[in-house]
Amino acid sequence: MKPSLILIGAPGSGKGTQATRLVKEFGYKHLSTGDLLRKEIAEKSVLGLEVKSVMDAGKLVDDNLVLRLLKANTDKKGANIFDGFPRNTNQAKLLDQEILNDVNYKVFYFDIEKSVLLDRLCFRRTCPACGKIYNIKLMPPLKENTCDACGHIGLTHRSDDNEKVVNERLDVFLKSTEPLLDYYQKKGCLYKVDASLDVEDIFKAIASGI
Ligand code: AMP
Repeated sequence: MKPSLILIGAPGSGKGTQATRLVKEFGYKHLSTGDLLRKEIAEKSVLGLEVKSVMDAGKLVDDNLVLRLLKANTDKKGANIFDGFPRNTNQAKLLDQEILNDVNYKVFYFDIEKSVLLDRLCFRRTCPACGKIYNIKLMPPLKENTCDACGHIGLTHRSDDNEKVVNERLDVFLKSTEPLLDYYQKKGCLYKVDASLDVEDIFKAIASGI
């Protein structure tokens, strides 16, 4: 079986795009904690109502709450892609202890200049039907507001993809998430990818490292 994958990178570094591709090619289960939390908000669940204001501010949701959601959605028998979790060292330890245990996994760090991310995020749009990600400035769909992949009309703009909240999310990444690289470096399972390359080249780099 392929190893499970942990994708670490600043918001907008391309983790979601690569995860979608890896699922298609290798049959991984994609677990994006951001997507799982947004689903709870859309469904107006108790958990969704609890986390909405924290997410709108670009801060981190409580570690154990996200862990619980993740645990409930992990494929226990197959290989998973963890996208957006862990976000800090405590979450990395919880993931090792409570989900991965002795499962074989690799960590890919999406290395990118932070200054390009503001543009990437503020112009990001997502297809709510199939999850394909666009950028209306850098990588627009062929037909305005319409998904190339599934034809769905009406691409969505995340409420936290605006300049103020993006700056906060990047700050959180630098302070809480980047230190994680050390944790995985010491474990010997960290691989760095150049996330400024084009989508296909990043995919090839990851696929050859799995
Ligand atoms: P993302 O879609 O990964 O950019 O996540 C969007 C937002 O969801 C983040 O800004 C956090 O508020 C929340 N979130 C996602 N994953 C986590 C996590 N592992 N721990 C805490 N909060 C998270």
